[in-house]
Amino acid sequence: MRPCDREKLERSDEEWKRALTPEQFRILRQDGTEPPFRNKYWDHHDRGVYLCAGCHSELFSSDAKFESGTGWPSFFEPICEGAVEKVEDKRFGVVRDAVACARCGGHLGHVFEDGPPPTGLRYCMNSGALEFKEE
Ligand SMILES: [Zn+2]
Repeated sequence: MRPCDREKLERSDEEWKRALTPEQFRILRQDGTEPPFRNKYWDHHDRGVYLCAGCHSELFSSDAKFESGTGWPSFFEPICEGAVEKVEDKRFGVVRDAVACARCGGHLGHVFEDGPPPTGLRYCMNSGALEFKEE
Protein backbone atom coordinates (compact mmCIF):
# COMPACT_ATOMS: atom_id res chain seq x y z
CA MET A 1 0.00 0.00 0.00
CA ARG A 2 1.34 3.43 -0.89
CA PRO A 3 2.08 5.71 2.06
CA CYS A 4 0.05 8.89 2.37
CA ASP A 5 1.48 12.18 3.34
CA ARG A 6 -0.82 13.92 5.77
CA GLU A 7 -0.14 17.30 7.22
CA LYS A 8 -1.87 17.69 10.59
CA LEU A 9 -4.84 20.00 10.74
CA GLU A 10 -5.56 21.58 14.13
CA ARG A 11 -8.75 23.48 14.89
CA SER A 12 -10.45 24.54 18.09
CA ASP A 13 -13.83 23.11 19.10
CA GLU A 14 -15.38 26.45 18.21
CA GLU A 15 -13.92 26.31 14.71
CA TRP A 16 -15.10 22.72 14.27
CA LYS A 17 -18.58 23.64 15.44
CA ARG A 18 -18.79 26.25 12.72
CA ALA A 19 -17.38 23.94 10.04
CA LEU A 20 -19.45 20.81 10.77
CA THR A 21 -23.12 19.91 11.07
CA PRO A 22 -24.23 19.07 14.64
CA GLU A 23 -24.28 15.34 13.74
CA GLN A 24 -20.78 15.49 12.20
CA PHE A 25 -19.52 17.34 15.28
CA ARG A 26 -21.07 14.77 17.62
CA ILE A 27 -19.38 11.86 15.80
CA LEU A 28 -16.05 13.37 14.75
CA ARG A 29 -15.25 15.55 17.74
CA GLN A 30 -17.14 13.81 20.57
CA ASP A 31 -16.56 10.14 19.63
CA GLY A 32 -20.22 9.68 18.76
CA THR A 33 -21.83 6.64 17.14
CA GLU A 34 -24.78 6.60 14.76
CA PRO A 35 -27.44 3.87 14.68
CA PRO A 36 -26.84 0.82 12.44
CA PHE A 37 -28.87 0.57 9.20
CA ARG A 38 -30.10 4.14 9.64
CA ASN A 39 -27.12 5.92 8.15
CA LYS A 40 -26.11 7.09 4.73
CA TYR A 41 -23.49 4.65 3.48
CA TRP A 42 -24.01 1.21 5.06
CA ASP A 43 -25.76 -0.05 1.87
CA HIS A 44 -24.03 2.27 -0.58
CA HIS A 45 -22.38 0.60 -3.61
CA ASP A 46 -21.23 3.36 -5.94
CA ARG A 47 -17.60 3.41 -7.04
CA GLY A 48 -15.48 6.18 -5.63
CA VAL A 49 -13.66 7.40 -2.56
CA TYR A 50 -14.84 8.08 0.97
CA LEU A 51 -13.41 11.27 2.47
CA CYS A 52 -13.19 12.51 6.04
CA ALA A 53 -16.21 14.79 6.58
CA GLY A 54 -14.01 17.01 8.74
CA CYS A 55 -10.94 17.72 6.60
CA HIS A 56 -11.81 16.00 3.27
CA SER A 57 -8.76 13.74 3.29
CA GLU A 58 -9.21 10.55 1.29
CA LEU A 59 -9.76 7.65 3.70
CA PHE A 60 -11.23 4.58 1.96
CA SER A 61 -11.79 3.38 -1.60
CA SER A 62 -15.08 1.72 -2.52
CA ASP A 63 -12.85 -1.18 -3.68
CA ALA A 64 -12.15 -1.99 -0.01
CA LYS A 65 -15.81 -1.82 1.09
CA PHE A 66 -17.55 -5.07 1.98
CA GLU A 67 -20.85 -6.30 3.38
CA SER A 68 -20.24 -6.80 7.09
CA GLY A 69 -23.89 -7.23 8.07
CA THR A 70 -23.40 -4.75 10.90
CA GLY A 71 -25.37 -1.87 9.40
CA TRP A 72 -22.34 0.40 9.20
CA PRO A 73 -20.06 1.02 6.20
CA SER A 74 -17.16 -1.42 6.56
CA PHE A 75 -13.78 -1.53 4.84
CA PHE A 76 -10.86 -3.97 4.98
CA GLU A 77 -8.15 -1.35 4.48
CA PRO A 78 -7.59 2.40 4.25
CA ILE A 79 -6.80 4.02 0.89
CA CYS A 80 -3.15 4.57 1.79
CA GLU A 81 -0.81 3.69 4.63
CA GLY A 82 -1.35 6.13 7.48
CA ALA A 83 -4.67 7.61 6.32
CA VAL A 84 -6.17 6.64 9.65
CA GLU A 85 -4.69 5.95 13.05
CA LYS A 86 -5.66 3.74 15.95
CA VAL A 87 -6.63 5.22 19.29
CA GLU A 88 -7.31 3.13 22.37
CA ASP A 89 -10.92 3.46 23.49
CA LYS A 90 -11.48 2.36 27.10
CA ARG A 91 -15.10 3.41 27.42
CA PHE A 92 -17.86 0.90 28.17
CA GLY A 93 -15.53 -1.25 30.29
CA VAL A 94 -13.71 -2.89 27.36
CA VAL A 95 -10.64 -1.84 25.42
CA ARG A 96 -11.39 -1.31 21.75
CA ASP A 97 -9.37 0.22 18.95
CA ALA A 98 -11.00 3.46 17.88
CA VAL A 99 -10.01 4.83 14.46
CA ALA A 100 -9.33 8.50 13.83
CA CYS A 101 -8.49 10.51 10.73
CA ALA A 102 -4.72 10.94 10.73
CA ARG A 103 -4.98 14.51 9.47
CA CYS A 104 -7.59 16.14 11.71
CA GLY A 105 -7.91 13.57 14.49
CA GLY A 106 -11.65 13.21 13.91
CA HIS A 107 -13.23 10.06 15.34
CA LEU A 108 -14.41 7.76 12.53
CA GLY A 109 -15.33 4.46 14.17
CA HIS A 110 -13.52 1.31 15.33
CA VAL A 111 -11.36 -1.43 13.83
CA PHE A 112 -11.84 -5.13 14.58
CA GLU A 113 -9.85 -8.23 13.64
CA ASP A 114 -12.72 -10.19 12.11
CA GLY A 115 -12.63 -8.76 8.59
CA PRO A 116 -12.21 -10.56 5.25
CA PRO A 117 -8.95 -11.25 3.37
CA PRO A 118 -6.51 -9.88 2.48
CA THR A 119 -6.12 -7.93 5.74
CA GLY A 120 -8.52 -9.68 8.14
CA LEU A 121 -9.48 -6.24 9.40
CA ARG A 122 -12.90 -4.63 9.62
CA TYR A 123 -12.91 -0.85 9.75
CA CYS A 124 -16.40 -0.17 11.07
CA MET A 125 -17.11 3.46 10.24
CA ASN A 126 -19.82 6.01 10.94
CA SER A 127 -21.40 7.34 7.72
CA GLY A 128 -21.71 10.72 9.41
CA ALA A 129 -17.92 10.96 9.61
CA LEU A 130 -17.56 10.35 5.85
CA GLU A 131 -18.34 12.07 2.58
CA PHE A 132 -18.52 10.19 -0.70
CA LYS A 133 -16.80 11.36 -3.85
CA GLU A 134 -17.92 9.54 -6.98
CA GLU A 135 -15.25 8.18 -9.30
ZN1 LIG B 1 -10.03 14.39 8.85
